[in-house]
Amino acid sequence: MTGTAERMAGAWLWKAAVPLALPVLAALTLLIPLAVLAAAATPTASASSACSSAGTGATVAGIELDAVQMGQAQTIVTVGAVRGLDSYAATVALATAWQESRLRMLANDGSSPDLTPEQAAETATSLTHPHDGLGSDHDSVNTFQQRWIAGWGTVAQLMDPVYAADAFYSRLVDVPDWEAIPLTRAAQAVQVSAYGDAYARGETLARQLTAMLWPAAQGAAADPAGAVASVCPALPVPAGGWARPTTGQLTSGFGLRWGSQHAGVDFAGPRDTPVYAAAAGTVITAACTSTYCDRDGSLHLEGYGNLVELDHGAGVTTRYAHLSGYTVAPGRQVPAGALLGFQGATGNSTGVHLHFEVRVHGAPVDPVPWLADRGVDLPATATAG
Ligand SMILES: [Zn+2]
Repeated sequence: MTGTAERMAGAWLWKAAVPLALPVLAALTLLIPLAVLAAAATPTASASSACSSAGTGATVAGIELDAVQMGQAQTIVTVGAVRGLDSYAATVALATAWQESRLRMLANDGSSPDLTPEQAAETATSLTHPHDGLGSDHDSVNTFQQRWIAGWGTVAQLMDPVYAADAFYSRLVDVPDWEAIPLTRAAQAVQVSAYGDAYARGETLARQLTAMLWPAAQGAAADPAGAVASVCPALPVPAGGWARPTTGQLTSGFGLRWGSQHAGVDFAGPRDTPVYAAAAGTVITAACTSTYCDRDGSLHLEGYGNLVELDHGAGVTTRYAHLSGYTVAPGRQVPAGALLGFQGATGNSTGVHLHFEVRVHGAPVDPVPWLADRGVDLPATATAG
């Protein structure tokens, strides 16, 4: 983006912060009955996901699902196909995950009063794994709300979307006549839930999602190397470490460009390439900072487009601009390598890329030496991480 847009974007951040507060609060209130405390406020209708074989967020059975939810759904369906199960198994799994988590990978802060301090601490380790929401129901975690205390696996295992789906199917196929009994009874048998009828509410959605996602799942199953490609990935980054924020060619460096200051570096990859947190931090901005972000911008449009900004403490912030959509909300803590959004061309942009900035006390620094000092070689054409 140009220097003008960079300066404009600073002003936009203040405007963006205020209207965001109310929808976030509203979302919190609505979700408390689900014991889900975060993650719903992602106004990214245009978001689509390269990590979902389905490709995009979608409205299914009248329900608007964002790219993260579609990515989780695709993972669940794909794991079923890789196991060689009938597509109906995926429908049962999707209806269950919809009821339990609204198809989000939920960490758990261990705040449930029925946990001992030791159990609470172990449950809270889920926060150190990639997640796209927060729950607090007993020791339950992940899309299926599986419980480590009940023997479903370790917290680390349960926070892996592939493991979680696989664990669900392992128990489903042990349910007598699971293919013939009502969906809600099969789900209830797996989940050992007293509220089994609730699973029926997601049945229409689950059937339509299965119809949409099963072909790609079969394709992945036929090519084992591609089987996990549909998982919305988060990068494994050591604690305190830094990561390359996205894949793609480094197309523009820091400094003077076209007579103005380029405050960051640009990476150009395919549209909707995942963008990750370069380091652990707190989301301070996740907003459209241009006049519109529902379609590609241009050099005549000012602002960063869809922008995510992270605060890493000690005056260090990072910015991720021109995103096609974002998957985080302000106030959220994210680990290094967490999925933030997807490469796009919103705002002051001529083509699909990520504009990435590192700032120290507000002043932009060159991300190349900054990251090199932290073990990340940006100019190398490498995978994210
Ligand atoms: Zn740029």
